[in-house]
Amino acid sequence: MPLAHPFDDDKLKEECGIFGVVGVADAANFVALGLHALQHRGQEAGGIVVHDAEHGFNSARRMGYVRDNFTSAELLQTLPGNIGIGHVRYSTAGNKGQTAIRDVQPFFGEFSMGGAAIAHNGNLTNAAALRRDLIDRGAIFQSSSDSECIIHLMARSMGRNIPDRMEEALRKAEGAFSVVAMTRTKLMGVRDPLGVRPLVLGKIGDGWALSSETCALDIIGAEFVREIEPGEMVVISAKDGVQSHFPFRRQEPRFCIFEQVYFSRPDSILSGRSVYETRRQIGVELAREAPVDADLVCPVPDSGTPAAIGFSHESGIPYGMGIIRNQYMGRTFIEPTDAIRNMGVRLKLNVNRALIAGKRIILVDDSVVRGTTTRKIKDMLLDAGAAEVHFRIASPPTAWPCFYGVDTPQREKLIAATMTEDEMRDHLGVDSLRFISLDGLYRAAGHVEGRNNACPQFCDACFSGEYPIKPTDMIAKGFELKS
Ligand code: SF4
Repeated sequence: MPLAHPFDDDKLKEECGIFGVVGVADAANFVALGLHALQHRGQEAGGIVVHDAEHGFNSARRMGYVRDNFTSAELLQTLPGNIGIGHVRYSTAGNKGQTAIRDVQPFFGEFSMGGAAIAHNGNLTNAAALRRDLIDRGAIFQSSSDSECIIHLMARSMGRNIPDRMEEALRKAEGAFSVVAMTRTKLMGVRDPLGVRPLVLGKIGDGWALSSETCALDIIGAEFVREIEPGEMVVISAKDGVQSHFPFRRQEPRFCIFEQVYFSRPDSILSGRSVYETRRQIGVELAREAPVDADLVCPVPDSGTPAAIGFSHESGIPYGMGIIRNQYMGRTFIEPTDAIRNMGVRLKLNVNRALIAGKRIILVDDSVVRGTTTRKIKDMLLDAGAAEVHFRIASPPTAWPCFYGVDTPQREKLIAATMTEDEMRDHLGVDSLRFISLDGLYRAAGHVEGRNNACPQFCDACFSGEYPIKPTDMIAKGFELKS
């Protein structure tokens, strides 16, 4: 299983990636390629389910990267069929950071009208309550995942076909869910009423694809058709094409704004906008909101890069690669010792001394979670001879946990939950520290008027503490909402 790199305790963790195709020969190959393009959304484990008229349903679930598990011809030969779905996982529910193979999706259920498999991205905020109730009524859970509730709710539904059962099950679910699912002949996709997590539709030859992000459509040569709308359910077959309906009460969408800042790949299109362009624009807004006299703008690679380019362009301060990332960190240290761990970010990043020495540096990063990495990077720059270090952060202070499918530390571990911006600057020991404002972030994401405080256009709960979906399970555990 791939091991966490040295940033892992100081970044929000991407949640999951989902992908599905119908109407293509050797669907498993397409699903594997799609999951590979979505690997940034989950590196702990992956799984594929396919169906073929002769062999029925087949599946493979593995710990680790897609490229290490789903590229062998022998394995893919065991997954025949022209319909399939897949999932890459970082555990946001269940056993965090300790994925067991039983928790690896897609999940499968056999119903009286046939089998179905589902893959879920997001987090059900009432999963504990649902699970208790289902177990009381005789359900036997196989995993610790919140997503398994959907299969059990489907089993108890009186719906006449599987799409009806899935619809009924998801009506009982609260929280964030983008789901791809399949029967023997139909591919299904659903997004929760607020559309917190992404899901897009693509066309490939005579077939169709569903994916968390458009970058995975690109890799298989599929054409991006459109986003699945918040609250929409699509049922797709090779014969009948795409049938769409809206089973949930319509609500104003609240897409996750952190997808724009960090989670999604910069070559994806979200809400009709290039993620790269949004991130570059965040840098432009940051330069306007928090200018500083300096010699060089550097990104913390890779996710700080587009914002650093935007900051440099707007401020007129030259851009340079003051920090170089080691691309091959991933599998090098399978079982790092404490000594290696303590080398910290140096395993992942190295300072470009020749560029840095004697200069006043503006470092642009995507976020500050605990602040531990920020501090280490500052030390590395000063050791390399930087005259001053100014941090500019492409998101507002992360002061609240996410309950919608992103792994965040407990609130008290978030540096912004306990310190003001000035206190953080002093604590981190940097010459200056500024975060983009919420309004600036909204402007960069295409809302020129900024955040509509009466009805925010995005979910921004991890910055604002305003949760668009009540975190029922967490409140039951004692979590206190912002008063
Ligand atoms: S709380 Fe933050 S990370 Fe979670 S869905 Fe909302 S904006 Fe995204």
